[in-house]
Amino acid sequence: MNIPRVHIAHLPTRIEALEHISAFLKGPQIYCKRDDQTGLGFGGNKTRKLEFLLAEARQAGAQTLLSVGAIQSNHCRQTAAMASRFGFGCILILSGSEPEIASGNLFLDKLFGAEIVWAARETRDRVLDEVFADALAKGRKPYKIPYGGSSSVGMMGYVEAMTELKQQGMDFDWIVTASSSGGTQSGMLLGAMQCGFVGKILGISIEEKAPILRDTVATLVREGADLLGLKIDIPAENILANDDYLGGGYGILGEPEIEAIHLFARHEGLLLDPVYTGRAAAGMIDLVRKGFFKPDEKILFWHTGGTPALFAEPYLSLLQKH
Ligand SMILES: *Cc1c(COP(=O)(O)O)cnc(C)c1O
Repeated sequence: MNIPRVHIAHLPTRIEALEHISAFLKGPQIYCKRDDQTGLGFGGNKTRKLEFLLAEARQAGAQTLLSVGAIQSNHCRQTAAMASRFGFGCILILSGSEPEIASGNLFLDKLFGAEIVWAARETRDRVLDEVFADALAKGRKPYKIPYGGSSSVGMMGYVEAMTELKQQGMDFDWIVTASSSGGTQSGMLLGAMQCGFVGKILGISIEEKAPILRDTVATLVREGADLLGLKIDIPAENILANDDYLGGGYGILGEPEIEAIHLFARHEGLLLDPVYTGRAAAGMIDLVRKGFFKPDEKILFWHTGGTPALFAEPYLSLLQKH
């Protein structure tokens, strides 16, 4: 691949067997790929995408990174860390209003020196455009990083991650991962076709109904293929997206996530996050219990990070009640 990239993530991330969880669930063998350990600023899946996005920003002569997200956005936190590391300014447009105490990812955003602009969720994208225009006028050379880092450039991080997985020499029947803005799952799908991974890639939807997520992922696959000069088109209906675990909506921690977080902590000493991997693992656990996977199949739970949100309210309080 000759798309510009910087190298900062700790790669390859490890693959670990989750023997205790697998035994406890009496189901298939489950493994975990530790993209929560990509190294920069507590890590996570956005670091792989940002390696490509930052290189693009640098080529464009940018000096200030702009992005947008929820108050506990892992993407914004990793963007802020990346900006510090590579000598960029950083402005984050976060939805909501400023809390009295900045905790979790928001605390880290501030520690990394990001400027924060608060906006209502509905006006977030308009505010982003305004802040961009303002930064441009002030000569700060802004560069917009899309929501979740999910663009054809950002998803290349996960195209490359599939080659990494291939080189690790283990075969899996399934990859299970949290899927939200689609860059991770689309990159995996495109990467799978490139490196010859034949297992299934199941996205547990975090926020959207499955048809919407499938469309998002299919569009990104097409755009990513274009960028690579390939003619690849995966029909939306062939994309595996499960929306049975949306619970109370984005960022709402429910019983299934609380159970999954405790199971992983107590059986494996592994930390899941309350918004993404907690939900994805809860979905996977439920599917195992329902006999969705065959007993002799090997499953790779692709951990996408997010653990700083464990220390953010209201999650901390809710998790402590158990
Ligand atoms: C952003 C994020 C995801 C979702 O990845 P997408 O590429 O947006 O689908 C999953 N897990 C964590 C922890 C994240 O921060």
